[in-house]
Amino acid sequence: MKRYTAVVLAAGLGKRMNESVPKQYLLLNQKPILYYSLKAFEESAVDDMILVAANGEEEFCKSEIVERFGFKKVRAVVAGGKERYHSVYEGLKAVKNTDYVLIHDGARPFINTDMIQRSIEAVRLHDACVVGMPVKDTIKILDADHFVADTPERDLVWQIQTPQTFAYSLIFAAYREIMKRDDIQITDDAMVLEHMTGKKIRVIEGDYRNIKITTPEDMAVARAYAEEYQML
Ligand code: C5P
Repeated sequence: MKRYTAVVLAAGLGKRMNESVPKQYLLLNQKPILYYSLKAFEESAVDDMILVAANGEEEFCKSEIVERFGFKKVRAVVAGGKERYHSVYEGLKAVKNTDYVLIHDGARPFINTDMIQRSIEAVRLHDACVVGMPVKDTIKILDADHFVADTPERDLVWQIQTPQTFAYSLIFAAYREIMKRDDIQITDDAMVLEHMTGKKIRVIEGDYRNIKITTPEDMAVARAYAEEYQML
């Protein structure tokens, strides 16, 4: 039996949200945003979870989220770092006894068990997979002076979401190497493999609703989706 661990990220300060409370704790249908990803993993085939909280908020996260809602698969709550990739690395270091790891933004509450299952099936075949959706708008690549440099073929341009799922040994080794460098802007986990290995990364279907709640207007959209799903 293969083992799966989810690393759920909740160590961002959410400055773009303009709220005093970090966005992962804002309420959606009376529950903190973070609750919904933990619930999806709790109800999925994933065996364990590592929750990455902001430095100093580990105890709060443990009592107010993990214990309060009775999540049984959370094995550790660890402190994150300055940027998202620092937090991922802290999460990966805390993972024990697993074959595959699913890295997920706690700010994406609309992950569901189907998406998790698709990720599990794809990672077993490809060792590296990310969820995403084809873009709906035409995308332009700009030059430094803000003139159009290129227009990629739209069918091949996808916006990438999380979970991003990998063979644990592969992603951990790549992260360990990239952490020695300081010349790379890392905005997702697949990029770490792209830079550090020749591994091909499979892109599978996520969901247009699997948004990352980042700015205040995202909350209005999230409330509408939550109502549509009748999320509890
Ligand atoms: O900041 P951004 O919206 O890209 O954050 C994506 C996810 O990464 C969020 O769930 C956030 O809590 C997490 N994050 C983190 N540590 C950071 C920055 C972001 O865990 N230093």
